[in-house]
Amino acid sequence: MKENFREFFMEKLVVLLKPEDVETSAKEFISVYASYMQGAGIVGKDPSGHVSFPSRTAPVEESNIEFFEEWVDLNNALGIHTVASMDFYTDIWFARDPKYQTMTAEGVAMQHQICPNREEFWEYGAEIIKELGSYPIHEILLFGTGFIRDHFCFCERCRDEFAPLVDQEPSRLTYAYIAENPEYHEKWHEWRSEKVHAGISRLQEAAKESDEAVGREKPLSIAVEILLDPETNLTEGARTEYGYDHKKILDITKNVMVNLYPWSPTLPQSGTKEYDDLIEALYFSTEFKRRGGTVSLFRWGVSSIEHMRELKQIGKDASIDRFLGTFSYPSDYRERRESAVGNY
Ligand SMILES: [Zn+2]
Repeated sequence: MKENFREFFMEKLVVLLKPEDVETSAKEFISVYASYMQGAGIVGKDPSGHVSFPSRTAPVEESNIEFFEEWVDLNNALGIHTVASMDFYTDIWFARDPKYQTMTAEGVAMQHQICPNREEFWEYGAEIIKELGSYPIHEILLFGTGFIRDHFCFCERCRDEFAPLVDQEPSRLTYAYIAENPEYHEKWHEWRSEKVHAGISRLQEAAKESDEAVGREKPLSIAVEILLDPETNLTEGARTEYGYDHKKILDITKNVMVNLYPWSPTLPQSGTKEYDDLIEALYFSTEFKRRGGTVSLFRWGVSSIEHMRELKQIGKDASIDRFLGTFSYPSDYRERRESAVGNY
């Protein structure tokens, strides 16, 4: 993998790197590749819940600190657009506390994901945004920003809040009860969407606070992940399954990152109906950009140049010219995929 960095950078991919992807110091890496890089990506908080920098809030992966700090300082000094990632509700460390785990209607609790209906957790996220924002970075890629799927969340708090809206006892609320009634189902989508965007709004406020604290000239931007997969009904599913709405994100952060086909190993081939459906699902991006927003295509596990070129072709056909990606999959990918498209 190492010798291919240049090729990926030449294709304008902003790679979200982990220090272990690099195998040299940040300084050595940057001295070789800086002139090819469109932007420099580094993991800030990963799905384990650990952060790569000294923190008073989250657990710290000590071995990443030196690389992280050198990386952001040097890239900033060279005028390279510097992005750090942050997993939000996908947080295994925080989810050790059963009180915060998101849950199915049958009471199966997720060990890797937090219920988005947790104001206290938004505050936790906001603190981490402020810590990240104290570094000279330009953008935060925010992952794990919605519900796992339409069947979530039935934790005690969600039951207590939602059941009265559909004339039901909290303990007797089932997914079928909601899904079988179109009016209830729409209420469910609306209610969950409000939670998701309230959480994102809190993080956006925190980014602004960090701008003021460090006197950043150009505001720190938050790119919000939108999962777009045929298994979860593309754009319509983004709202009904996960709870996010690009129109609301336009009002809040003006920056979305479309995670393309997260649950599918291969991208669709040009000339197929599936391909055309995907391009159609990306139409929203034109209006989003026209109104001043930024849209990027993101893909996990961009492991070959051929894969990268497929991604770029989709970008070309959908008029999106910003590409972000990782070489590997998230550490909790198996659980994430299973909970999103498996038999829960
Ligand atoms: Zn919940």
